[in-house]
Amino acid sequence: MNNKIYFTPGPSELYPTIGKHIQQALDDKIGAISHRSKQFQEIYAHTENQLRTFLKLPDNYTILFLASATEIWERILQNTVAHTSFHLVNGSFSKKFYECAGELGRTGLKVEAQFGEGFYPEQIAVPAETEAICLTHNETSSGVSMPVADINQFRAKHAEALIYVDSVSSLPYPNFDYSKIDSTYFSVQKCFGMPAGLGVWLLNDRVIAKAEAMDKKGISLGTYHTIPSLVSKAKENQTPETCNVLYIYLLGKIVEDMNKIGAQEIRMSIDRKAKLVYDYLQTSKVFSPAVADEKLRSQTTIVANVTIGSAEVNNQLAAFNMAVGTGYGNHKDQQIRIANFPAHSEQAMQQLVAKLQACFG
Ligand SMILES: *Cc1c(COP(=O)(O)O)cnc(C)c1O
Repeated sequence: MNNKIYFTPGPSELYPTIGKHIQQALDDKIGAISHRSKQFQEIYAHTENQLRTFLKLPDNYTILFLASATEIWERILQNTVAHTSFHLVNGSFSKKFYECAGELGRTGLKVEAQFGEGFYPEQIAVPAETEAICLTHNETSSGVSMPVADINQFRAKHAEALIYVDSVSSLPYPNFDYSKIDSTYFSVQKCFGMPAGLGVWLLNDRVIAKAEAMDKKGISLGTYHTIPSLVSKAKENQTPETCNVLYIYLLGKIVEDMNKIGAQEIRMSIDRKAKLVYDYLQTSKVFSPAVADEKLRSQTTIVANVTIGSAEVNNQLAAFNMAVGTGYGNHKDQQIRIANFPAHSEQAMQQLVAKLQACFG
């Protein structure tokens, strides 16, 4: 039996009701049903409806299920960028998406910020030939977030380009104005408290039209997961391939539970927990917030500099059955990352802060 509480930034703590839903799925033999059956179509429709309600998604948006956010990066470029994408790069995830463009034979252009820093939209010159502006709401590696109000500034100046927002480690926290972007996407192992293995892509009719136009021109959109194939199957509450039926089922159940609480209350709870952590970091002797500009500090993946090494932090926390994330990549030893997802209760976050304070001051 593992009683540890995982404050790692994904995979992370599982949503408290997941055990019950997994058991129900086993009892109902969800893993044995056909992905072409009416029963599956009802599961798909339920998950889609719960997500639409939870995120207040407008009718011109479609929801698609793919393998992971990494796959969605590839599909975005393959299906909607014939030549040029433009990326705001400020950490490892935004950088990987940018590199994907070159790997697919597209021209990826970028503006890059130092690790731990973000962007101020008024200072960014988007090249005229840009077909897709690729933003990251929450850069999980550095703990830098781009405020929704900043994301909303791109549309007016760049009406033609499609605007993509990576909200993999923050949705449902950002309350997007979906008319100011064209698409966003997430993976279930971050804020939805599930094991990894499902990516969810929200995209509007402009994105679909662009893919159809590229298809007409004879540009390859890839193979099984093209936007036209995904969308035509989604209309029948199905996927092109034999999909992860269990995870689509579990996501629907978890979002149903979240809907009972409400997105707004979940956001406020995340704010309360983030305040606890940042207030502590600011007074601590060994920790300090890694992101200098308070307005750009992530609420869902909090990154702190640590003077005593991240391994020592987890050594001490192990005695209390808790674990935080180490720094990302080169920053492994000098930083810790604390996930603040809906699955982390306020009580658990209070305990974490109390133990950090008791151990390290
Ligand atoms: C985790 C993460 C990804 C990649 O998600 P996968 O599920 O591993 O494909 C992409 N972007 C951000 C910001 C992430 O945190």
